[in-house]
Amino acid sequence: MKVLLHMCCGPCSCYPVKQLRAEGHELSGYFFNPNIHPYKEFKRRFDTAIEFAEKVDLPIQIDRNYQLRDFLWRALSAEKREETLTEKPRCRMCYAWRLHQTAVYAKENGFDAFTSTLFVSPYQLHDVMKDVAEKISRAENIPFLYEDFRLGWNEGVEICENLNLYRQPYCGCIFSEEERYSNRWKKEHKKKMKKLREELQG
Ligand code: SF4
Repeated sequence: MKVLLHMCCGPCSCYPVKQLRAEGHELSGYFFNPNIHPYKEFKRRFDTAIEFAEKVDLPIQIDRNYQLRDFLWRALSAEKREETLTEKPRCRMCYAWRLHQTAVYAKENGFDAFTSTLFVSPYQLHDVMKDVAEKISRAENIPFLYEDFRLGWNEGVEICENLNLYRQPYCGCIFSEEERYSNRWKKEHKKKMKKLREELQG
């Protein structure tokens, strides 16, 4: 299948690209991440995505449009509107924006399906992303290729180290940059990772 792979960054692309190619898919990368701030970090991430793509011979399309104000407006509106309805409303919005843009691009450019490297990360709200992607797939009438790439997270980290790629210390938005210094967040995160490891090991 001709698959458009949304790339959140270079490191998270390592395992999904290897896995999808092993399954025989023809891949193109698509970098659309208006969530990443500040600009220097945004640029560093798309430079790393390009570096990765060159190293593994992957065609790639980069959206270099830096959308700080639009992202903040959407994130704060989502938090205000849905704070009692969903977990981390800004993340749901952030997934939806990026995956919707990917689905539209895939449809307009003759791809058979779309997916995202976000599905490799144990740090993301995996089930929320899956739900969002499936809804977008139905609305835009283009298949979403789902795989739980988290099973290859450790392998991806190893590939990334071998390729000597820059690994970022926070998810992307300014809020996640704040969270990386929060002890409460670190504690919650440690608990979550322990639970996830147990689940993945069956
Ligand atoms: S924490 Fe990550 S997924 Fe959530 S809004 Fe920020 S950049 Fe997006």
